[in-house]
Amino acid sequence: MSILIDGKKISAQVKEAVAAEAAALREQGIEPGLAVVLVGDDPASRVYVNNKKKACDFCGLRSMEYALPASTSEAELLALIAQLNADPAVNGILVQLPLPSQICEEHIIAAIDPRKDVDAFHPVNVGKIMIGDFDFLPCTPAGCIDLIDSTGVPIEGKRCVVIGRSNIVGKPMAMLLLHRNGTVTICHSRTKNLKEICKEADILVAAVGKPRFVTADMVKEGAVVIDVGMNRLPDGKLCGDVDFEAVSPIAGYITPVPGGVGPMTIATLMRNTLKAAKLQNGLA
Ligand code: NAP
Repeated sequence: MSILIDGKKISAQVKEAVAAEAAALREQGIEPGLAVVLVGDDPASRVYVNNKKKACDFCGLRSMEYALPASTSEAELLALIAQLNADPAVNGILVQLPLPSQICEEHIIAAIDPRKDVDAFHPVNVGKIMIGDFDFLPCTPAGCIDLIDSTGVPIEGKRCVVIGRSNIVGKPMAMLLLHRNGTVTICHSRTKNLKEICKEADILVAAVGKPRFVTADMVKEGAVVIDVGMNRLPDGKLCGDVDFEAVSPIAGYITPVPGGVGPMTIATLMRNTLKAAKLQNGLA
């Protein structure tokens, strides 16, 4: 039976460390601030934004919410981004994705000042991650690395398989594992022999967006299994990309959903906001 990787506990430790550093910054007159922009009324996005606000409150970071109607034009959102870029009280800017169809996500991401891009989605930050010289790490992949590290299993030299090649999860995840000297394979919808490739993985990261996609016959005995998936089932329950019941007797370590990667994503966002405040005040 595998050992459960407790994302709630590990994320609480990260947030406590951020809170301690934020308190020390406040004594120097610096209050790190995160602006969260939500366009429209997607219920899942509202939950994420509320959770981010709660985490800011816990860490003693100032959170500023900008809730705009679903009819907001790209020009209006760009004007808000320009205002936030220029505001010294705003150290981090997060635009909750997805955006309504009349707004081009790439235009918005590119308009955010890279020094305030705490999601690390801006092309400048993506490029910096690629060359291994970065200020911010993308929140979900960085959180996954912390979860893997919590097991004590070294990444170096391990066969790592990432299922999914999105810009926000799969690709940066693979890059971070590579920076840690893992031997990395990226799989996607056109991959052949997916089951066989996954079964070779010492570290398997699933970022597919399909409930219970990873089945027991895809997992090597003793593997570290990280489930990024957050899929809403018809009964309203959250479900990961891994068939948890079937895979946990085989894996060495496994993350639950909920309570695994999700809380780490938010904790990393808090860490990035703190780092942004330090960088912008010449303290990092
Ligand atoms: P995405 O952009 O939809 O990407 C999904 C990836 O899965 C694509 O690269 C796709 O391949 C691949 N895929 C789809 N079907 C496949 C198949 N049959 N075999 C192999 N690969 C397949 O999704 P995402 O944004 O990366 O998110 C993935 C999941 O993580 C979602 O459930 C999302 O909700 C969750 N998520 C969680 C967090 C968190 O904080 N926990 C954060 C972000 C995302 P192609 O490229 O070939 O289409």
